[in-house]
Amino acid sequence: MNVTIGLEVHVQLLTKSKLFCNCGTNYRDSEPNTHTCPVCLGLPGSLPVLNKKAIEYGTMAGLALNCDIANEMQFHRKNYFYPDLPKGFQITQYDRPLGQNGEIRLDQDKKIRIKRIHLEEDPGRLVHPPSARYSLIDYNRSGVPLLEIVTKPDMDSPQEARSFLKKIRETLEFLDIFDGSLDGAMRCDANISLEGGGRAEVKNISSYKGAEKALSYEITRQKNLLRRGKEVKRETRHFDESQEITRSMREKEQEHDYRYFPEPDLPLIQLTEEKINSIKEKLPELPEEKRKRFLDQYEITKDQAKSLTTSKTLANFFEEISQQVNPKKTATWVTDSLMGELNYRDQSLSESNMNKQKFIYILEKLRDGDITEKGATKIIRHILDEGGHPKEIIKQKDFKAIKSQNLDQIIHKILEKNSEAVEDYIKGKEEAINYLVGQVMSETKGKAKPADTRKKLQKILEGYDG
Ligand SMILES: [Zn+2]
Repeated sequence: MNVTIGLEVHVQLLTKSKLFCNCGTNYRDSEPNTHTCPVCLGLPGSLPVLNKKAIEYGTMAGLALNCDIANEMQFHRKNYFYPDLPKGFQITQYDRPLGQNGEIRLDQDKKIRIKRIHLEEDPGRLVHPPSARYSLIDYNRSGVPLLEIVTKPDMDSPQEARSFLKKIRETLEFLDIFDGSLDGAMRCDANISLEGGGRAEVKNISSYKGAEKALSYEITRQKNLLRRGKEVKRETRHFDESQEITRSMREKEQEHDYRYFPEPDLPLIQLTEEKINSIKEKLPELPEEKRKRFLDQYEITKDQAKSLTTSKTLANFFEEISQQVNPKKTATWVTDSLMGELNYRDQSLSESNMNKQKFIYILEKLRDGDITEKGATKIIRHILDEGGHPKEIIKQKDFKAIKSQNLDQIIHKILEKNSEAVEDYIKGKEEAINYLVGQVMSETKGKAKPADTRKKLQKILEGYDG
């Protein structure tokens, strides 16, 4: 059965103040209802004043998503009742949105068309205290600028929806207009239908994982209905994140239920071609361009270039270190070792204990032969788990590589102990040397370099032969 998925993604733009008032948007660590004023509380007689920065950020996003940017846009009132919306309507854009007809390509080169993007205000937030028989409302979020990105129904699996959301996050973060690590900064609704069935809208999805789970659940639910010859109703469903299921909320509203009409308190917004072009010129390098440049400039592999450009933090981390240490080595250690270790711990680079100075120190010590690769990995793990500077860790934990002279002594000791393997080797059983290398490695607790050890062993054993 063919699956069709379209997404409506809401992202909070990183403006300092709200969309129509002067209240700050950094509300997350504040007491409820402390970032409010008559405008965002929807008090009668208050008037909205548009935040220009939100238009600029929205335009940047639109350009990065290859949309046609409107020269004239208009805000509308979308009327509905809900406690988190004190005015009784949400100011949003309707038939004259900021951008239309965009597209974005996923890593597998699949094209996802973007129908439109528009600006609107975030509603407040309902808080449900555990086991209480009431709900609380926090209006700190009310009026924070949201960019809504609506796709065409171009995705055909939950995995693809997840890749799309990741791509959106990556792109907007490169523009510095969005921070996906903030709680609730990206939310989405999904429209999903199976061949021969009605379309359900799933609301309340707040993470990539959530999107994948909600959609997988919906596909199974709709498949089962269709198999039994039952109807899949056109309805709105709510995703219950804790139970990973979707529940029926209500029959889907029709557009006319909202009684859209032009917002009389805001003028038509004009955006000249000149202005759009000047924003275009200021756009920073996007992931795709950066990937191509990394490939050309640093002679790293395609996979490395792709991994290193998944976030701006990571790309800058790599690039700044590459100015001091060999770029190829840096790329290998960042992608193979550091990213793996971060992933294993479910940490992001910016929230981890690793920084550029520490990483450069480790790579330099490695280059100079003062520590082994195994030692470097252990140091990286130690920093991620417990913090500290590699200089101190090398001292405390004795991660120093064995010096050549000491290694000679250890090798001789191992050879004396393992005369049988030595004889085998001399008789022509070349694989006996692997056993001896292993013995040296275990004796030195991994602080000897395997390649050096093998070379030394070969040399000494040749002497035995003669
Ligand atoms: Zn306000």
